[in-house]
Amino acid sequence: MAKEFQKKFMHPTRRKLANMVLTGGEYEKDTVVSFANAENAADKNRKKEVGERWTDSEGKTWEQKEFGKVRLNENSDTFAEVREYLNKLNTCSAEGCKTIKVSYADKKLISKTGYCAKCLATKQLQIKQDGLWEAYTDYKSFQNMISYGKEVIEQFKQAYKDVKQEYEIVGEDGKLEKWKMEKDAEEMKAEILADIKNFEEELEIAYQKRNEAWDKLKDKNYDLIKPPID
Ligand SMILES: [Zn+2]
Repeated sequence: MAKEFQKKFMHPTRRKLANMVLTGGEYEKDTVVSFANAENAADKNRKKEVGERWTDSEGKTWEQKEFGKVRLNENSDTFAEVREYLNKLNTCSAEGCKTIKVSYADKKLISKTGYCAKCLATKQLQIKQDGLWEAYTDYKSFQNMISYGKEVIEQFKQAYKDVKQEYEIVGEDGKLEKWKMEKDAEEMKAEILADIKNFEEELEIAYQKRNEAWDKLKDKNYDLIKPPID
């Protein structure tokens, strides 16, 4: 069911269109970036006050002293954060977890589910014994469909706004290329609108099924199931 639903969202022609429109959108974003760089360049030439701190284009932070600029060292903080993050990735969140040696497979599961293989199996077994395994897998796949579907609809809404008869795209050589769409832009817009409507109807079904599954699960307070996000 999950696969079928996704395939519908990934209709090749639509996908291509979305990509094309997105590329056009990115060109505009790039223009903004170059304006920001121009500002930075002007800022670079300005004389800094003593005590002023700034970050250069390479991400290095400097402080102006009376005798000149000095590089500030932020590494210690960054390392501590990274270490804490990695530690969390390798620690099973189950209460009373007895796994001492965390294997590579455990680490992968922990980063995905929060639990080591042993604890995950115990928690899943409980759901199976309660006779709610199907509700559990349904809940997860419909929840995934919903978040994926919402993303796709957003992309299509953006595509609808961005559809133009002619685009300017920066080519690999850095030159502006004009790109004319063969299909009539209005016709394209109508098609995108129809697609959005279809997606929204499918999403509505996914919501219903997700909620039905949630109704069966909610009183159990399973660790593996987070409440629905809409
Ligand atoms: Zn564990």
